[in-house]
Amino acid sequence: MPEPHAGPGQVVVKVAGSGLCHTDFTVVSRDRGYWKDDPPPFTLGQEIAGWVEELGTGVKGFQRGDAVAVNPSWSSCGRCHMCRSGEENHCLFQKAIRAPGVGYDGGHAPYVLVPEARFLLTPSR
Ligand SMILES: [Zn+2]
Repeated sequence: MPEPHAGPGQVVVKVAGSGLCHTDFTVVSRDRGYWKDDPPPFTLGQEIAGWVEELGTGVKGFQRGDAVAVNPSWSSCGRCHMCRSGEENHCLFQKAIRAPGVGYDGGHAPYVLVPEARFLLTPSR
């Protein structure tokens, strides 16, 4: 895979580790219904930790080299009370799974593109 680059609001994370879990096997074993409108090919891996490598324009609160984990639930909402409380996996408006390694390139690669900085967690936050 080509190395990703961060667009506005995005972050590239240099992967330190990416967990192999049941979801990876579910994704490769299920039919097209699992990934709906985002069919393969994509890189598996939704349990990701690493370091900030590249920040897109407008991203604040992070700098290159920060240790981060990547929230595996990428809600498109970000505004409902579940999203604001950090429980994007229970978003009231998300209709389908949106996650690294499930329709989007995941962490089983040297770098992963995170579409919004709000999906990053740091040890101090
Ligand atoms: Zn929400």
